[in-house]
Amino acid sequence: MTDNGKPTRDERVERAEAESREASTEVLVSASGTAGGSYAYHDMRTAGRPLCGAGDEETEYVTVTIEEAQRRNKAPCQRCRYLDSITERD
Ligand SMILES: [Zn+2]
Repeated sequence: MTDNGKPTRDERVERAEAESREASTEVLVSASGTAGGSYAYHDMRTAGRPLCGAGDEETEYVTVTIEEAQRRNKAPCQRCRYLDSITERD
């Protein structure tokens, strides 16, 4: 599996099970298309922008809850989870 590869169904299930945050936590999903990895949901850094810097100025993100993102078959962005894990310890 690579960051750019579409996760298999099993990988999505595994990632969803690895999600430890509240289902009501707000995350970002790309509004349309595949820019920024449409299969992933991202942690929010500043309003409307993903923590990992995915996408570009043209990429539109919408805020949804983790519960909603998972219902749309999205999985946590691994880069965001990593960045979050190293910054939370500060
Ligand atoms: Zn991300």
